[in-house]
Amino acid sequence: MEECIFCKIVAGDIPADIIYQDEYILAFRDISPQAPTHLQIIPKKHVPSLVEMEEVDFPITAEMVKAAGYLADKEGISKTGYRLVMNCGEHGGQAVRHLHMHLLGGCQLSNMLG
Ligand code: 5GP
Ligand code: ZN
Repeated sequence: MEECIFCKIVAGDIPADIIYQDEYILAFRDISPQAPTHLQIIPKKHVPSLVEMEEVDFPITAEMVKAAGYLADKEGISKTGYRLVMNCGEHGGQAVRHLHMHLLGGCQLSNMLG
């Protein structure tokens, strides 16, 4: 996946502030944070989007949620709360076509969903 920016981060070809990784998952700070804590949690495997997931890929979403819980604890935002967001496709506002989960917290987030 030569043109995928997140694959390049996984490969170490471009730098990122990586704060967690395991066999399946990589997590790093968003380059343009929208909240005091704004992390990207991604599968190491290139999966383009939620609608393009194959049956074999679904367990990775559980790994992502598990990592989010661990990272929220590590960031000290478990008690105050946080938001997990997965944008999908054009109307969902997905800019990077490599599955990712935003972990946002550290302040009161707006109710805006649209
Ligand atoms: P999307 O809009 O696709 O749901 O979110 C993509 C996110 O990836 C955005 O929040 C954007 O700031 C972040 N992002 C895009 N390119 C890079 C990058 O090269 N490094 C990091 N750390 N984050 C990136
Ligand atoms: Zn990719």
